[in-house]
Amino acid sequence: MFKVLVLLLSINTLYAQEFFDADFIKKVTTLRDKALTDSTAYDITESLTTEVGPRLGGSKGDARAVKWAVAKFNELGFDKVWTEPVTFPKWVRGVETAQIIAPFPHEIKITALGGSLSTPKRGLKGEIVHFKTIEDLKNADASLVKGKITFISNRMERYKNGKGYGMANGARYMAAKYTADKGGIGAIIRSIGTDSNRDPHTGGMKSVNFNQETGEITLLKKGEVVPAGAISNPDADLLVNVLKRGKPVIFKYTLGSHWDGQYTSQNVIGEITGREKPEEVVIIGGHLDSWDLATGAIDDASGCGITMAVAKLIKDAGIKPYRTIRVVLWANEENGLHGARAYGKAHVDELNKHIIGAESDFGASPIYQFKSNVSDQALPVIAQMAELLTPIGVTYVGNNARSGADISPLLKAGMATMQLSQDGTNYFDLHHTQDDTMDKIVPEEIAQNTAAWIVFVALAAEYKGDFGFDLYKKQ
Ligand SMILES: [Zn+2]
Repeated sequence: MFKVLVLLLSINTLYAQEFFDADFIKKVTTLRDKALTDSTAYDITESLTTEVGPRLGGSKGDARAVKWAVAKFNELGFDKVWTEPVTFPKWVRGVETAQIIAPFPHEIKITALGGSLSTPKRGLKGEIVHFKTIEDLKNADASLVKGKITFISNRMERYKNGKGYGMANGARYMAAKYTADKGGIGAIIRSIGTDSNRDPHTGGMKSVNFNQETGEITLLKKGEVVPAGAISNPDADLLVNVLKRGKPVIFKYTLGSHWDGQYTSQNVIGEITGREKPEEVVIIGGHLDSWDLATGAIDDASGCGITMAVAKLIKDAGIKPYRTIRVVLWANEENGLHGARAYGKAHVDELNKHIIGAESDFGASPIYQFKSNVSDQALPVIAQMAELLTPIGVTYVGNNARSGADISPLLKAGMATMQLSQDGTNYFDLHHTQDDTMDKIVPEEIAQNTAAWIVFVALAAEYKGDFGFDLYKKQ
């Protein structure tokens, strides 16, 4: 099996060498190695977290982040810099308190889920009905839930590739809706996170309806959803222990979060213009917004830093790419994917000019593997990338990539993609908490990310063929 793979890779490499001249590959290799000790991505990430800080969609931080991004793209020497409007309902957080009232009184740390309605000013009090999983709530008889506060206690599991998140976050997304559907009055979830700190993890919940055809957004009203919050892992354990006593558990919480009109933010875009096919685009980026509990270093200042650094370093190395490298810093990913939706709509007539794309939105721990989703004809180019990525610890694992929330409208349109996977073992200790801060970024690790992305972006932008279209339907 191993021999076959080596043979296959070397045959592919033979073909791949016809796509790139030796001088170009040498330049990319040199740049890759230089990037391993380069501080550009780290410096950009530090700049965004320090000079802007928290930047929830629609907040003052969001507006500061847009200004910061335009200035940073210009400072880094991008050929073209512009913004595109993104309009969405603005959500604001308010007061957040919680207590177990009976049978044993305890103060509990709580945070509202993104999109949650407020409780009455003096709080919402009721008996807890406990479900181990969101499926249990979904399948429960309404009579069990009516008039009560639901609590989902399912714990997220830790995996290197982060798959525990997908297995757990349905609770965050649907608890408030299912509870309302069954006549409940409130919803509490165990945080979707792997840490044992007393920090609740926020994150988006289903709070609006999207009309796929018109793009129209309707807010869910009281009765269609209930006020919803997450409590930390230790507090969720405590609540489970209290429930074990078998007596009615009375819980009270107050959330001041609410909708507050419409807001228009911006996707901020910078380009290194292609020398021969400027209209063809390799699209990369991270999301500019963050949750409001911290400065959003791993989610996703680092993704902005890595992808901005990649394009800048390629330009500075004198590599003028065949086609354009476009870096998009997406608006309001966290609370509704609004930047991605707006981009998909604004560029609907040129989606097939997006030759390949990827997003960095999983922190800045070392990249250990990569996947592609390209046509068979383009696999030799991927093999050439693999040859340049192996020496920096990145292994090719297959042609089945599917990732990047912000590029999902482009993927649905059939764009080819690449997934450069960071080690996610510790990512969900910090994700969406007050601890997502700059001290968690390791300079050598974010530099390794930059080096890996350079290989992908430089080769993808120089390769004169395409990577296939309509790839979504084939999966
Ligand atoms: Zn993110």
